[in-house]
Amino acid sequence: MIRAYLDNNATTRLAPEALEAMTPYLTDRFLNPSSAAGQILDQGDPGLDARRAIARLLGDVDLAAQVVLTSGASEANSWVLSTACAGDELYVSATEHPSILAAARAAEARGSRILWLPVTPEGVCDLEALTARLQPEAKLVCLMAANNETGVLQPVDEAAQIIRALAPNALIHVDATQALGRCPVGLGQADTLSLSAHKLHGPKGIGALVMRPGLNLRPLIHGEQDDGRRGGTINAPAAAGLAEAARLALEGLDRMGETGAMRDRFEALLKATLPGVRVNGAGAPRLPNTSSFIIPGLDAVDAVDRLALDGVVVANGSACSSGSPAPSHVLTAMGLTYAEARSTLRVSLSRETRWPELALAAEAIADLAREHARTAAFG
Ligand code: PMP
Repeated sequence: MIRAYLDNNATTRLAPEALEAMTPYLTDRFLNPSSAAGQILDQGDPGLDARRAIARLLGDVDLAAQVVLTSGASEANSWVLSTACAGDELYVSATEHPSILAAARAAEARGSRILWLPVTPEGVCDLEALTARLQPEAKLVCLMAANNETGVLQPVDEAAQIIRALAPNALIHVDATQALGRCPVGLGQADTLSLSAHKLHGPKGIGALVMRPGLNLRPLIHGEQDDGRRGGTINAPAAAGLAEAARLALEGLDRMGETGAMRDRFEALLKATLPGVRVNGAGAPRLPNTSSFIIPGLDAVDAVDRLALDGVVVANGSACSSGSPAPSHVLTAMGLTYAEARSTLRVSLSRETRWPELALAAEAIADLAREHARTAAFG
């Protein structure tokens, strides 16, 4: 039984309202919404609803026509990087999500050149390094809005100003998957923005790529749908769920301050209970829902397993979800040692999280850390 769900950066629970919005499209409203009969028989247009809701969440209703629904943020990220050609210079922040890193490596294999942008010890994109390294012929810069492991917010607007001044033709891509619904996010000066429904209490398997007006990326999935921008019959139930989830996220944005206060209280409690705990990225602006912290000496992979067996769901700072014991590229890019990265836990809240869940997790984590320390002392 789950007693404390604190892995909301991995995924969130489907909101009951989103499920309700999806249900008719899984049952009676099964017609293809873009077919003639679907339109005559008024099956609704969940794709349009989703695009409009995303545009509203991004603070610009006029963006609705610029939203292309995808199977998630990974597809949206791959799409952007798939447009890179041999010889193109691509600048990628070192702490991007694995879906960006893997797509960048695929572009490299096709002959593009990847230039990695370092981060400061707080996990913030190093703007001095960006200024020093960016060449006028740069084709693309990838900089996420908020990091999935640490919650550190990236200086996207400042970076965009630098990029526009030094490399006016570069495309700016922002992966906003973790930031959307947790802090105000707009397209701003970016050219493209990716997002995913399942991080904001929507269904898995749907997301979007938003393109600035006037931009039309070469499709990744070819077909007739969506004016040829992305082929494939629309996933109507998921689109209906995304529309509702985006609407709820916008409504819930002003309550994220309470989530941030709870996260701060959790960190204070943990530090008071376990001397030596250090919060990663604590000196930088962070998402209100994320806490990444080192418990010196803790084997975080083992801790996550044991906590899950106890009904407390958190994440660790390794890439072990891919079956590899390698420490997280995000934490090592921030200068953490392998040992520190392997002793890092991540707790991520959502607007549904309440204090008793956090208090329970803090106690379970502290118990486990003391046990690890005792075993290490006698081992
Ligand atoms: N980008 C970031 C920052 C993410 O956290 C995730 C999900 N972990 C993704 C992209 C991929 O999203 P999806 O699961 O929709 O492909």
